[in-house]
Amino acid sequence: MANETARKIGPVILLGPPGAGKGTQAKKIAEHYGIPQISTGDLLREHVGRGTALGLEVKAIMARGELVPDELLFGVVANRLKQADCERGLILDGFPRTAGQAGWLDAFLEREFFEKSERCTPVVIRLDVDYTQLLLRLTGRRSCPTCGRIYNVHFQPPRVDELCDLDGSKLVQRNDDGEEVIRGRLTAYEAQTKPVAGYYQAQSRLVPVNADRSVEEVTGQIFGVIDSHASGGASAG
Ligand code: AMP
Repeated sequence: MANETARKIGPVILLGPPGAGKGTQAKKIAEHYGIPQISTGDLLREHVGRGTALGLEVKAIMARGELVPDELLFGVVANRLKQADCERGLILDGFPRTAGQAGWLDAFLEREFFEKSERCTPVVIRLDVDYTQLLLRLTGRRSCPTCGRIYNVHFQPPRVDELCDLDGSKLVQRNDDGEEVIRGRLTAYEAQTKPVAGYYQAQSRLVPVNADRSVEEVTGQIFGVIDSHASGGASAG
């Protein structure tokens, strides 16, 4: 672990549909390699919260769930990536969301980092999950309103139907975990992310990882991809 926090990792981009485990895996990468996780959604929400000029401009756009225009977003991303904690590497969360943003990121990294002769091409990992599996993961999710424990009626059911093992409360389902809403979220994801995956795939830089397996197995695979990339190996297909 000690050498993991001295080594150059470079930017890591995780692509994958809702329910693929991106959040979980991003946290594991951040902890293991000691690099920050940078979410453009969080950066923008911070501006909204602080009431900055940018925050005022993007508030309504974000409330409608639309993409914030590039000319407003790029400055925020550039400022964050230039900070000292990103020098060894970083995980991007929610960026790039379009092929245009992916192209901008490449140009930015080349301008800012290649000049210092650092290895900074992003490693792009796509978490692939079987569609049916994804639906079961999302539609089966239930939580206890009292203690917060998470269950899955298909994979990790409570001992008594719909009741929490720990305190007997009736389990609840998140509003956006209904099957219709989930199908909509998955379709939107496909439409939005395909061009980004396509951008990296066209340059043989997209590394697919089978995320149908256990969290630990997927983490192991991801670390393998990052280690190989950081040491100069090419593993994209
Ligand atoms: P998120 O937290 O990633 O779901 O992002 C919340 C909101 O922030 C999105 O609905 C967009 O309005 C905005 N946003 C975040 N990332 C981007 C991006 N890469 N491009 C454009 N808008 C973004």
